Amino acid sequence: MREAGTLAGMQSTLYEAEHSAFRDMARAFLAKHVAPFHDQWETEGMVDRGIWTEAGKHGLLGMDVDESFGGGGVRDFRYNAVLVEELIRIGATGVGFGLHNDVVAPYLLNLTTEDQKQRWLPGFCSGELITAIAMSEPAAGSDLQGIRTTARRDGADFILNGSKTFVTNGILSDVIIVVARTDVDKPGAQGISLVVVERGMFGFERGRNLDKVGLKAQDTAELFFDDVRIPAENLLGKENAGFLHLMENLPQERLSIAVGAVAGCERMLEITVDYVKGRTAFGRPIGSFQNSRFTLADLATKTQIARVFLDKAITSLNAGELSAIDAAMAKYWTTDLQNTVADACVQLHGGYGYMSEYPISKAWRDSRVQSIYGGTNEIMKEIIGRSMGL
Ligand SMILES: Cc1cc2nc3c(=O)[nH]c(=O)nc-3n(C[C@H](O)[C@H](O)[C@H](O)COP(=O)(O)OP(=O)(O)OC[C@H]3O[C@@H](n4cnc5c(N)ncnc54)[C@H](O)[C@@H]3O)c2cc1C
Repeated sequence: MREAGTLAGMQSTLYEAEHSAFRDMARAFLAKHVAPFHDQWETEGMVDRGIWTEAGKHGLLGMDVDESFGGGGVRDFRYNAVLVEELIRIGATGVGFGLHNDVVAPYLLNLTTEDQKQRWLPGFCSGELITAIAMSEPAAGSDLQGIRTTARRDGADFILNGSKTFVTNGILSDVIIVVARTDVDKPGAQGISLVVVERGMFGFERGRNLDKVGLKAQDTAELFFDDVRIPAENLLGKENAGFLHLMENLPQERLSIAVGAVAGCERMLEITVDYVKGRTAFGRPIGSFQNSRFTLADLATKTQIARVFLDKAITSLNAGELSAIDAAMAKYWTTDLQNTVADACVQLHGGYGYMSEYPISKAWRDSRVQSIYGGTNEIMKEIIGRSMGL
């Protein structure tokens, strides 16, 4: 695959020399420690836990965490983006570093007390503590205000009851941010808090590692809480301000998904351009048919436009200026494009595109969820539409 942003020869202006060096290091790491094993992990439904501690040793976890906790000490989302791009580049969709680095890290950096930082950040960076965030429930996904999991006060502690589903890193995780209702008398978004559940807490059980259409090596699981006693020191952020904390952090989660989407488009186009050059029909390469050329030209153009928008969004995020609306636009548009690209690229492969052994079929299966999780694209359009006063 070409470097990010160079699909049609145009250079991304986003990255600087230090990001290229980080990319080279990440690429070498993934080639050695991930690529040879990923098929096996897909069969097993989960990555090897050792990959996390190995990544920690190479500085691929917590790039924005202070060096005193073992992190990289640089708050620059471009490093996060590089890592996601490199994972997608080799189809390593099961490795949950993006969830850990891009989605969970801001909660542990911005909402934690000094004591909590000491407890969780060193393990976060070394890979000994794998993280997850559990918002969705069987009866509440898009409508998060409808969650039923409760964390009832009992003296200084909370007693957690309920269940979560679709939790990424659900089986491997050691530290899980759980969204729970701490005040059942307050309606909707009020009365919701974030509490941290840790591996081994009494009453905390994991359910199935869910059998998905794609992302086969990613452990996505159900979690169950039966009178789990959560010490007050495991409250994250302010009590009853959990919904606000989610709103503050969801833009970065959505941007991370958009990074994966654009990288996915670039990879699928590259695979397909190679394929249509080599496959012949009616005595000529199928890439030379006008339909193939126009289809690929159209999608390459849209992908390039997506990359430009994404670069701008990453720059805004780094400046602390990325709005929820722009993040929703980026997530919605790039992931819809990813599905369009995936479908067209399978079509251009003909029957071979439907064969599991061809990388485009895996890319197609892995793409489908992108418009669903992190807030569905319909919810993204709701956010955008409401911002227009509609
Ligand atoms: C692989 C995978 C990993 C995931 N990882 C996590 C995770 O780590 N943590 C976590 O908490 N969750 C996770 N999720 C859950 C994900 O965020 C939810 O699936 C998603 O938010 C949608 O919720 P739902 O599945 O309940 O669908 P529903 O909310 O039931 O939606 C069903 C359909 O109704 C539409 N809809 C709902 N409300 C509206 C509306 N107001 N207007 C228009 N259309 C609407 C939706 O867009 C969708 O098309 C993951 C999901 C998957 C599949």
